[in-house]
Amino acid sequence: MEELELAIKELKELLPGLKILENEPMSAHCSFKTGGPARAVAVPSDVFSLTRICSVMKKHKIFPMALGNGTNFLFPDEGLPDMLFISTEKLQKIFLNEDGTIYAESGVSLSRLSGFAQQNGLKGLEFASGIPGTVGGGIWMNAGAYGGEMKDAVQSVVYYFYPDQGLYEQLGKDCQFGYRTSFFQNNPAIILSAVFALDKDEPEAIASRMREINEKRREKQPLDLPSAGSAFKRPEGHYAAALIEECGLKGYRNGNAQVSDKHAGFVVNLGGATSKDVYDLMMHVRNEVYAQKQVELHPEIIILPPDYKLTDTSPAAPKNVAFTNGDYEKTAGGTGTSAAKEENQ
Ligand SMILES: Cc1cc2nc3c(=O)[nH]c(=O)nc-3n(C[C@H](O)[C@H](O)[C@H](O)COP(=O)(O)OP(=O)(O)OC[C@H]3O[C@@H](n4cnc5c(N)ncnc54)[C@H](O)[C@@H]3O)c2cc1C
Repeated sequence: MEELELAIKELKELLPGLKILENEPMSAHCSFKTGGPARAVAVPSDVFSLTRICSVMKKHKIFPMALGNGTNFLFPDEGLPDMLFISTEKLQKIFLNEDGTIYAESGVSLSRLSGFAQQNGLKGLEFASGIPGTVGGGIWMNAGAYGGEMKDAVQSVVYYFYPDQGLYEQLGKDCQFGYRTSFFQNNPAIILSAVFALDKDEPEAIASRMREINEKRREKQPLDLPSAGSAFKRPEGHYAAALIEECGLKGYRNGNAQVSDKHAGFVVNLGGATSKDVYDLMMHVRNEVYAQKQVELHPEIIILPPDYKLTDTSPAAPKNVAFTNGDYEKTAGGTGTSAAKEENQ
């Protein structure tokens, strides 16, 4: 029996109450609504169960991939028969510490986190109220919008470190946050929880800023259609959306995937799109922008190729390994600009 099958069998024996979704369509777990089945999605009910899953996987030399709200993933249509994901959807604890900081587990949504901060008169997370991800995915990506980034609010992060199976706490300043990147993209780790340090303000003033930001989002972004937010990172000195529009690609369609006619930085699923439709569209956009503008676009979305798997010796994190082609041989998925400004706005 393959190692993954042995690991799943062992998980069922060791943790009989654990929810394991087998041969689970990943279209049900991502905001693009595309992608074939992964071998399994385990849904631990607490962080202890999560670490126990990890140690079983470690024994079988398989690194499980964390899954937040799936709002920054493109899963392959062919499926991922060698992958086990750990969903953080049940890690939902959030509370105010005595010193005024907020503790939140990794599955807490960014909108709930920012709402909790607002209710407690704490400012600094207004930018996150409309980002549809989780605390874990937001920290992994250093998600940001409207001048704010996770790095500005994270005081510390507790994570499981796969190589030695230890639990570590890392200060925010040591998380190597950069433009849509963090320490966690280069290290095999699963974020369990984080503490946020924020300044005081009037709850009504915070609420008003949140309303303003979300109004701008509704005006400018195609929120009525499945997408994964900005498809590409902001290239140094440019805006991806402006470049794409200047190349005549706004509204460009491939199958049922389209460069949004509302915001050219978004790729949307018009209904029934496949991941291949999305991928080929992104490839076309990248090639066209390079041909017309000589600017390289790198995907912001994590694109997993078919048959992807992570083992003991894999690179730490899912890089955009699928995003290469023969037209020019540079691998996408590298760093974007170091500027903190982003294009979701
Ligand atoms: C309509 C829309 C608008 C968006 N607007 C913005 C925006 O304004 N700004 C912005 O930055 N992004 C935006 N996004 C993209 C996305 O919401 C963010 O990147 C978000 O942080 C992803 O969080 P997630 O929980 O969905 O992560 P997922 O998509 O589930 O995962 C993304 C990556 O994080 C890793 N990960 C997730 N949880 C953990 C964990 N606990 N431990 C370790 N690794 C983990 C995954 O393995 C994966 O590599 C938008 C997306 C949509 C659909």
